[in-house]
Amino acid sequence: MSSTESPHLGRALCIITGASRGFGRTVAREMSRVVQPGSALVLAARSGDDLRALQAELAGSEAAPAGLVVECVVANVGETEGLESIIRAARDAFSQEMDHIILVNNAATLGDVSRYFNSFTDMAEVDSYLSLNVSSSLCLTARVLQAFPQRTGLRRTVVNVTSLCALEPFCSWVLYCTGKAAREMMFRVLAKEEPDLRVLSYSPGPLDTAMQVVARSETAHPNLRKTFSDMFAQGKLLTCEASCSKMMKLLLEDSFTSGAHIDVYDV
Ligand code: NDP
Repeated sequence: MSSTESPHLGRALCIITGASRGFGRTVAREMSRVVQPGSALVLAARSGDDLRALQAELAGSEAAPAGLVVECVVANVGETEGLESIIRAARDAFSQEMDHIILVNNAATLGDVSRYFNSFTDMAEVDSYLSLNVSSSLCLTARVLQAFPQRTGLRRTVVNVTSLCALEPFCSWVLYCTGKAAREMMFRVLAKEEPDLRVLSYSPGPLDTAMQVVARSETAHPNLRKTFSDMFAQGKLLTCEASCSKMMKLLLEDSFTSGAHIDVYDV
């Protein structure tokens, strides 16, 4: 990039999971504005109508570069077929002129926060949560790295959307905290194994999304539930746009330590 150009992510292939709503949808919008002509976005989630509405919005947006390709993949990332269809769409959208692969592992679920640790006796229930929230991001990332191996002139960036819950225990959030902690270590291992990659675990802060509605209405622990309700009532939740702009700043500056956990409030 020359010093007179505004910062950009290059001619990029951006793969974003959970792009149908909330933070992932905002990430798709923001990325579409800072990629160069000849770039493509691959947007994955289960809600096809929402993805297609976003696709139409981005295709008609003046802020996006001319000819931006936007592909929707209606997929459950918790299933192998879902990962296969994301990789298929990414291969189709890729062109040899691209110089940056960006994967944003954003899709996640809160799990059942209405119960405490000692109620989780069913291995199948726990396995199912971890499969969707941990295994899927490991396997999708590994598949993307295999599909687009390192070569001269190609940058590769992997984002893990993480949470304070990766670092701090929250009562009645055993599944979510466990999943976020595991994911973060997974991406630290990746950063250590592959120094050519740029790996960012970005913690977006409390966001005004559907996940927060569940947090403030279903959390079993009364103090934690009240904390979330108060944050909402006092207007302390962040908009996805405000948080995403911090993440984009990190990606555009590209000076973060690979594998590090970086919180929105530290940017
Ligand atoms: P939302 O619940 O609003 O959105 C979650 C997204 O993930 C949706 O697009 C949903 O799409 C997708 N998703 C869920 N399950 C699947 C699945 N099985 N297959 C494919 N896609 C799936 O969450 P947020 O936007 O709030 O959260 C985004 C990220 O930010 C998550 O990683 C979350 O943990 C993290 N985070 C959120 C915070 C918050 O306060 N909201 C705080 C800290 C971190 P669909 O249903 O269409 O499949």
